[in-house]
Amino acid sequence: MIDLRSDTVSKPTPEMRAAMAAADVGDDVWGDDPTVNELERYTAELLGKAAALYVPSGTQSNLCGLLAHCERGDEYIVGHHAHTYMYEGGGAAVLGSIQPQPVPTDETGMLDLKAAEEAVKPNNSHFARTKLLCLENTIDGKALTTDQHQAARDFADDHGLGLHLDGARLWNAAVALSLSPAEVAAPFDTVSVCLSKGLGAPVGSVLCGSSELVSAARRWRKVLGGGMRQAGVVAAGGLYALQHHIDRLADDHANAQRLAAGLAAIDGVTVTGCNTNMVFSRIDRDDPTLSKRVEARGVRADWRFARSYQERSNRESAPGDSRQGHGRFGRSRMVLHLDVSEADVDTALEAIAAELAT
Ligand SMILES: *Cc1c(COP(=O)(O)O)cnc(C)c1O
Repeated sequence: MIDLRSDTVSKPTPEMRAAMAAADVGDDVWGDDPTVNELERYTAELLGKAAALYVPSGTQSNLCGLLAHCERGDEYIVGHHAHTYMYEGGGAAVLGSIQPQPVPTDETGMLDLKAAEEAVKPNNSHFARTKLLCLENTIDGKALTTDQHQAARDFADDHGLGLHLDGARLWNAAVALSLSPAEVAAPFDTVSVCLSKGLGAPVGSVLCGSSELVSAARRWRKVLGGGMRQAGVVAAGGLYALQHHIDRLADDHANAQRLAAGLAAIDGVTVTGCNTNMVFSRIDRDDPTLSKRVEARGVRADWRFARSYQERSNRESAPGDSRQGHGRFGRSRMVLHLDVSEADVDTALEAIAAELAT
């Protein structure tokens, strides 16, 4: 099965599994797991930060970061469709009594700093205390530039805010921009990275930052139930991924271009975006069984059909797409990762073209 639904579906390779089977382990809550300790040391060094914390998921990593920066009654400024706002169950509010202040993001994925300026609250008991600015890179596959990062840093400094990066796919940004991961991470106080997306590890994220912020986050990880014991077995997969699977993300980006070009050549398909390892497209007809039929040909991809822009939820709308068309049409996000080869891309294109020709 060729699975294009997300890079989260990627599976550990045989070499990664061998590294996991051979891992030395201990009780990580006691700080005794040598493999977790090595993963944290290695990731901190790779991102140019003083300290790192291994956590079960990116959601928990972002939440531990928010809790390290903010207290009850504080707020963080965040893009209106950022993962830390939209897709984490409202965790900051639910579990931290931290209020999100969403602001619009532009077509590059950067949040609007003018809107952020207006959102920063005066220091007055009427208001939540604005404490933190959060960026996401990549966002919808788009890599924010170092200039955009620097603008956020300057803004944070001007207003006395902390700066957090949801860098779930920071590795893709680094490869796309030909920068080191540390160069991408440099302006941020805390950075969360995922090991289990395009890098192919089965589980885990890492939160990096100063020793003070990471030790506060470590306390919150325990509170949230994320303290793991002999976690070296899974951490070894993450360490292997960092050591072997970053540079090859360039193959995923090339495969995304190949998929986009192939989709654009199919009658009735419009490619609306191709950014790092993600391809966004639209089909101008109503075809609710398309995903199922393509799956029967061994390819998993999701198309969501809706009547018009207004009918779609905010969640499904891509930034920059202000189409107000009538009639039903389908939208799809396809994601490349290490389990999808160049030949698989061609196979997927054949399956999609065949089903659209029927
Ligand atoms: C995947 C992802 C996360 C973390 O998700 P988990 O499923 O909790 O690991 C965070 N931010 C972004 C942008 C993501 O894509």
